Amino acid sequence: MRLNLQTIIHSPGMTLPFAFQMDLSDVEIYSEKPVTNPVEVSGEVRNLAGVLELKAVVVTDLDLVCDRCLKTFRKEKKVVLDYLLAQELQDEEAEENILLLEGSELDIEELASTSFILDMDTKTLCSEDCEGLCDGCGVNLNEEACRCQPEVDPRWAALSQLLDKPE
Ligand SMILES: [Zn+2]
Ligand SMILES: [Zn+2]
Repeated sequence: MRLNLQTIIHSPGMTLPFAFQMDLSDVEIYSEKPVTNPVEVSGEVRNLAGVLELKAVVVTDLDLVCDRCLKTFRKEKKVVLDYLLAQELQDEEAEENILLLEGSELDIEELASTSFILDMDTKTLCSEDCEGLCDGCGVNLNEEACRCQPEVDPRWAALSQLLDKPE
């Protein structure tokens, strides 16, 4: 989706709201395709005393697999966009959050999907204190106790042999 800002570009005080959905279900992120649901984008461009300001929220529910316990879970992912828009850069040392328009247009879908993908976490955990799976028996330690046989310390084994001996 492209926004045509022609109508507000020279009209201080005007706002141009927008809202649309994106389908990012084919996008691979760290060799997964976690964006199973539509991504909602909503926001507005506002002409503040001649300066164009873009504010938007990009949000969806991700279906993820925990890196530690391998459980699938659903988590809301929200990215906030906050930029200034300009038709040309006035000085060399431009601020980082200024976006250049193509003429009077902005490809908001491109901006929203790129920002969303770049903001994805490298690590996926169902919760910060996920206990993960036991290396020995493989149970999910968040849900059940470890089934591994307790290893008997050889010193205790010797002692218990002594104690078991009939007097
Ligand atoms: Zn987990
Ligand atoms: Zn175990």
